[in-house]
Amino acid sequence: MTIKNSIPPTVRLIAVSKFQPIEKLQEAYSAGQRDFGENRPQELRDKFPMMPDDVRWHFIGNLQSNKIKYVVPHAFMIHSISSPELLSGINAEAAKLNKTMDCLLEFHIATEESKHGFSIEEAVGFLKSDMFHSLNNVSLKGVMGMASFVDDENQVRSEFEKLKSYFDEIKKQFYPDNGQFRELSMGMSGDYKIAVEEGSTMVRIGTAIFGERDYSAKR
Ligand SMILES: *Cc1c(COP(=O)(O)O)cnc(C)c1O
Repeated sequence: MTIKNSIPPTVRLIAVSKFQPIEKLQEAYSAGQRDFGENRPQELRDKFPMMPDDVRWHFIGNLQSNKIKYVVPHAFMIHSISSPELLSGINAEAAKLNKTMDCLLEFHIATEESKHGFSIEEAVGFLKSDMFHSLNNVSLKGVMGMASFVDDENQVRSEFEKLKSYFDEIKKQFYPDNGQFRELSMGMSGDYKIAVEEGSTMVRIGTAIFGERDYSAKR
């Protein structure tokens, strides 16, 4: 896979397979790909049994509380924690399964309002709260964000820089001696090279691997 060769070996490549037919995932698997990203709970649930056990499923989309149960049993990591309530719901589901769910805090770094995530003030407040400390079945591994969908490279770069600074701030304040808090999930097909230059440890790439998504196809 040429994308794989264009990122440093220390950066994890997540193949974002949402809306892609299972054959495409199997093909990527045969080529050695093990990390896959999905953004719809039922699609993850449905694809999970069709792929080998050593696939690591990353959930990267919006998650409503009534769909948490489709994701927690199958996910290796949930990148899109955009509220305290969501993390709390995931914690409850993980507790039922006797599992510790690895998660990333999503930050709102883009100008588009349609994107989700914490502000740095909200995140710091949450990480200080008793509520956060009562969540024993989730483990925060780092942060995630999506840059604005614009052509202006400088804007994208400065948004990634901002996310890196949030990562650094949280690490320093809450996880100074914890090597597990180390993931900076940023970069998609259009901007992953910039993201890697700005310190990304996980890139989430769909179109550049699989081609355009067919939003009309029935699964
Ligand atoms: C769809 C999606 C991606 C991948 O987007 P591409 O532009 O196809 O690479 C990455 N991250 C998130 C959160 C997504 O929803």
